[in-house]
Amino acid sequence: MTASNKIEKIRWPVRTRCAFCYGVHVTVVSTPEKGWNSYHCEDCDKDFTVISNNVFQKTHLSSSQVLAIIRIFERRQLKKKPSVLCKIVNVHHWTMTKIIDRIKGYETVGNLLHTPIVSLIEESLQDPEVGFDSESIDVAILLVTYKFLTKDPKWLKAISGCSEEVVSKALDRIRASWPEGKEFEEEDKEHNWYDSEGWESPKAAVTLTLHVLCVCGEINRDPQTGIYSISEERRSKIDGVIESACVC
Ligand SMILES: [Zn+2]
Repeated sequence: MTASNKIEKIRWPVRTRCAFCYGVHVTVVSTPEKGWNSYHCEDCDKDFTVISNNVFQKTHLSSSQVLAIIRIFERRQLKKKPSVLCKIVNVHHWTMTKIIDRIKGYETVGNLLHTPIVSLIEESLQDPEVGFDSESIDVAILLVTYKFLTKDPKWLKAISGCSEEVVSKALDRIRASWPEGKEFEEEDKEHNWYDSEGWESPKAAVTLTLHVLCVCGEINRDPQTGIYSISEERRSKIDGVIESACVC
């Protein structure tokens, strides 16, 4: 598999989607041996490649350089000095600094993470046991950002687009449900989200759903046993609905 194909698999784990409108009605324009495959979107009529509308657009980086940066991003090594990272990627120090700044920007990081999550959620909707609403999509983004990128509330707020209140509540729930430094660890041993199956794994979708519901406060997770139960908050809401339905 070429570096370019690997990047496509990361950005589009389930199927190729328009880089601008997320549409799925896309056709292949060209697949050159070197460089990027190009596609055309039937929905918004734009041409795109895997690096369109994200941090790598107009950078003139080769596919192997882009892949090297994505790996650094995935391993959460962005805090390393640009002078060290530029040697790994084989770019000029100045270019590396510029790319790190761009990656840390709200829209670009959000976009990198957002696409695989949206694909996963859309696919998982076909499974009747798994469901998401728009609010839990935000929480899913927050959760994945926490897991893969940063635990800093300031960045979590910027990337997820959630309010300060939601972020701080979510962090409280994460801390109450998992021992520090071992967040989401037990489940991940069984269902590696970034394995060769990528985001398509139905088990990963169920695990993500449980995590999201937990971070939303709908269910609780016992940090010792790992067993999930309906939270008091949710139970009182359900009781309220039952009570009002019984008034006759
Ligand atoms: Zn489009």
